[in-house]
Amino acid sequence: MSEIRIDDLPVREELRGKSPYGAPQLDVPVRLNTNENPYPLPDELVDRIAERVREAARHLNRYPDRDAVELRTRLAAYLNDTALNGSAVNGSAPAGTAGRPVGKENVWAANGSNEVLQQLLQTFGGPGRTAIGFEPSYSMHALIARGTGTGWISGPRNDDFTIDVPAAEKAIAEHRPDVVFVTTPNNPTGNAVPAEAVLALYDAAQAAKPSIVVVDEAYVEFSHGASLLPLLEGRPHLVISRTMSKAFGAAGLRLGYFAAHPAVVDAVQLVRLPYHLSAVTQATALAALEHTGTLLGYVRQLKEERDRLVAELRGLGYEVTDSDANFVQFGRFEDAHAAWRRILDHGVLVRDNGVPGRLRVTAGTPAENDAFLEAVRALKKYEEEYNA
Ligand code: PMP
Repeated sequence: MSEIRIDDLPVREELRGKSPYGAPQLDVPVRLNTNENPYPLPDELVDRIAERVREAARHLNRYPDRDAVELRTRLAAYLNDTALNGSAVNGSAPAGTAGRPVGKENVWAANGSNEVLQQLLQTFGGPGRTAIGFEPSYSMHALIARGTGTGWISGPRNDDFTIDVPAAEKAIAEHRPDVVFVTTPNNPTGNAVPAEAVLALYDAAQAAKPSIVVVDEAYVEFSHGASLLPLLEGRPHLVISRTMSKAFGAAGLRLGYFAAHPAVVDAVQLVRLPYHLSAVTQATALAALEHTGTLLGYVRQLKEERDRLVAELRGLGYEVTDSDANFVQFGRFEDAHAAWRRILDHGVLVRDNGVPGRLRVTAGTPAENDAFLEAVRALKKYEEEYNA
């Protein structure tokens, strides 16, 4: 076939010369590059999924529950159990916020939180509109903006990767974006955004437009602090986005969800494809939600391993960003990509997100983390000898 590339096709102007998102998928012994949960699902859960999917399979001649009512009810219960007024995993809610329990009318689900975010931008962004994020942050926010024809504004951060709140307020007032993204804990840096900062940005966004503020809490179960779910009370333009890809160890399931005012849930119905969430997906997610206790047990172990990585890397003299996630950003390297390659030479794949001088490592099993630390010690030794 003759050689035709993407750019030879009549693709949309904004897609010309671009490459698809994706971390390198290399076949190496230790893969700590995509913030996955390293623990396979436990046998009891695998059996329960098989049971639930078997039952669903009988009815695959029919379209699934378009509104995923049972699943949204169970997700709301999970949020109320773990994120409201303190949590078994995370300690207490932000000071001065009580929060009201959420119900299925507050919750919407889709195929991964990426699809949730896409639906939100299809609803509240789009041609002639803009979204802002504070970078470095999750790069899909900008890419989904591009894919939905939403203009992208890159907002500022401080040198220590915290959000520069006065500068962010100024940027919001100046650009009057339609959607504001706040990722907490942030990816790839790992640090959480204090509730007061999110409130300040929400207020700035309401004064400027008013706009929708999407708080991306993909990693919140790993945080030392609490979810910002209680802030939903009285804030109809606030959306808290979540996923089962990280804490639930179910990245392969593709299940993301958000909690917000019921009007926001109604609004995304305008853009969602009918029957977007398959009966098999709904059955699998419901089975996983029955095993929340076991899965959150793995989260506790991963938090300990994350803290060990932070301590060991600091002990080696690296600059490590405080982490509330299941990954750790460390540096500084004169040449981060060369360091990435040296770690890979030891069979360990970490992530070079393009943050100057920094790399990111996902907390794996204790054995995987040991292998990573061994690789980093070898790197350190090489650097010291090279610089001597
Ligand atoms: N938000 C953030 C901050 C993420 O890091 C990720 C995944 N890397 C997602 C959302 C999307 O996750 P998923 O689509 O698997 O739910």
